[in-house]
Amino acid sequence: MDNPTVDEKQVWLFIQEKLKEKVTSQQFITWFVNLELIKIDNCKISISAPNLFCKEWLEKNYINIISSIVKETTNLNLNINIIVNDNNEQPDFETSTPHSPSLTTSKEDHVYINRNYTFENFLVGPCNRLAQAAAISVCESPGTTYNPLFIHGSVGLGKTHLLQAIYLQLQHNSNQLNTLYLSCESFVNHYITTIKTGDWDSFRNKYRQIDVLLIDDVHFLANSQNSREEFFHTFNALYSRQKQIVLSSDCPPEEIPTIEDRLISRFKWGLIARIDPPSFETSVAIIQRKTAMLKMNISYDIACYLAENVSSNVREIEGSLINLNRNSLLGNTKIDLNLVKQVIHGFTKERRYIGIEEILHSVIKHFDVQLSQLHSKRKFKSITLPRQIAMYLARRLTNLSLEEIGGYMGGRDHTTVMHADDKIKKLKKTDRNISVVLRKIEKELIR
Ligand code: ADP
Ligand code: MG
Repeated sequence: MDNPTVDEKQVWLFIQEKLKEKVTSQQFITWFVNLELIKIDNCKISISAPNLFCKEWLEKNYINIISSIVKETTNLNLNINIIVNDNNEQPDFETSTPHSPSLTTSKEDHVYINRNYTFENFLVGPCNRLAQAAAISVCESPGTTYNPLFIHGSVGLGKTHLLQAIYLQLQHNSNQLNTLYLSCESFVNHYITTIKTGDWDSFRNKYRQIDVLLIDDVHFLANSQNSREEFFHTFNALYSRQKQIVLSSDCPPEEIPTIEDRLISRFKWGLIARIDPPSFETSVAIIQRKTAMLKMNISYDIACYLAENVSSNVREIEGSLINLNRNSLLGNTKIDLNLVKQVIHGFTKERRYIGIEEILHSVIKHFDVQLSQLHSKRKFKSITLPRQIAMYLARRLTNLSLEEIGGYMGGRDHTTVMHADDKIKKLKKTDRNISVVLRKIEKELIR
């Protein structure tokens, strides 16, 4: 078979970059790193997958994402043809991702552990200090201090990095602890396969004989009630024997949709640590560290410019640095402000401006009320709640002052806006329905 042409390779590179943005790094490492482009022709793009399982999983779960990215990149409606690479022996323990030579991964139990995700390589700032300190403490005395440790934060802020750092540190300590890191997706997947095979003994043995269980992205449990049930038993079995459990999620326990209270309460038994987006100073430090690792030469001013202009998602920061590096190497030019502006143009997720009208519109749509009702002085609960939510969201998402928000809300006093803001903040902590609704509306607005 012909090898892909240079142009095809370029297209494939693009597709992979886009995939990286669309899926989590864990998913990328698990399912996409080992894909190879075979050929692009008039009607299809042929890709090789390392095994049948991977092919089927991609076809079942990711085909739409892949198709839409292929369409976006090539402007063609190509069929996606995934072929199992029969020559593919089980990969070596050390393999590299195609585009980041520095990312060395090793295959352990069908899960890739990134050898760079160490504590040394994790920069600490106010945004992640608690999570990092708790993770270190877990390594020092597993199963005692913080059990479970629940780390949450939005994508690209280092949750997987910290979980894998715990894994690597425990391996390094070589205290013979049986440690397992896996994504929640793999757990659910294993559960589903076991339903087919009926081999429950080996399923349960696998998880219940572990000293430290690290499960990434547990919000994935939202999708499967039966797996939650099984997870609950696994959790209990380990916890009752004082085994360490570390979990990560993109939201706090109570905001995982459809999750049962008994699981939420278990997640809250130990420590919940949130990772926030890095501040400007932390972003600069991260940029300096990453550029040093990539052997890129950039001035402090440029690091500051990037910290200000690239998004506060560390994965995106990394992406823009890799892009910058590639461009500077390709063009054999040094990295100055001109190049930076060219390259990060389109890369920055400049914060979309959100107007109060948009907020009101979303709230009205969501609660099925009228704008005039939000403006009115009526005090029915069915109207006061959406009204207060609108004020709360306006506080969070716009730069309007209390007075201005009051003005938009039918001429209310600034103290009313303050009160609404407080009230929803408190409700959010105690009422799950509210926190889920808020997340949903915010997501829609921020998109
Ligand atoms: P998440 O699992 O929260 O989506 P990841 O752990 O995959 O995020 O992090 C995304 C990328 O950003 C990774 O390459 C990771 O090494 C890097 N990263 C995140 N936080 C930090 C940090 N504090 N210091 C260094 N690198 C970080
Ligand atoms: Mg992750």
